[in-house]
Amino acid sequence: EPPQRLAKVLATAGVASRRSSEELIFQGKVTVNGSVCNTPQTRVDPARDIIYVNGSRLAKKLPPKVYLALNKPKGYICSAGEEETKSVFSLFDDFMKGWDKRNPGIPKPRLFTVGRLDVATTGLIIVTNDGEFANKVSHPSSNLSKEYIATINGAVTKRNLLTISEGTFVEGVKCVPDSVELLPQQPDISRPRLRIVVHEGRNHEVRELVKNAGLQIHALKRIRIGGFRLPSDLALGKHIELTPAHMRALG
Ligand code: URA
Repeated sequence: EPPQRLAKVLATAGVASRRSSEELIFQGKVTVNGSVCNTPQTRVDPARDIIYVNGSRLAKKLPPKVYLALNKPKGYICSAGEEETKSVFSLFDDFMKGWDKRNPGIPKPRLFTVGRLDVATTGLIIVTNDGEFANKVSHPSSNLSKEYIATINGAVTKRNLLTISEGTFVEGVKCVPDSVELLPQQPDISRPRLRIVVHEGRNHEVRELVKNAGLQIHALKRIRIGGFRLPSDLALGKHIELTPAHMRALG
């Protein structure tokens, strides 16, 4: 295996994001073969060099990159969480339990979510150990579109749709949705449903857009990121592993 940059090795090993790994290196928290190494671009070979981060030895074999698409249920948060809150990571307990059998001798990946969904929001969230990918996809500059279905309490007027389409300020930034559309009424679903596509991905963006138009959200579900659509047969709380073809579709 050709030597890799130290910061990248740490990120791949799941220590932290690439940027945070660089910080750790600058702070003198990383040693290579017994000496503090302050330069993130130092080339190392994780199989031969002895690397310590905050006093813990980095495994020789790095976990492979994993990309998982979860259908998030309501009531789960997208961070590690405290005792009394349910975290999306608990939905990967079986995946983690089976890891050693599937990948003998390879350390478990340290998973994190690509961006976040609110606790009450359901649908597509990507879970990975690839910090670079996570930063790229979740950064507003990625311009990846995200599609949501918002179920609304009460009636939706043309005026409401216009207000949503004009956008609102979220975290001090004007966010204008790419599109908003009232879905045709379905016989078995009485509440109106909106399809809203955004690309910024700011906190509570869709809820703010809807609230700003004077509407109340009953339920919110994300069904697409970039060119990757949540498989309609994926049950709540279940995940699939993304294939290279999925990854290309994601953009
Ligand atoms: N916008 C929201 O308001 N909530 C989410 O969970 C995602 C996007």
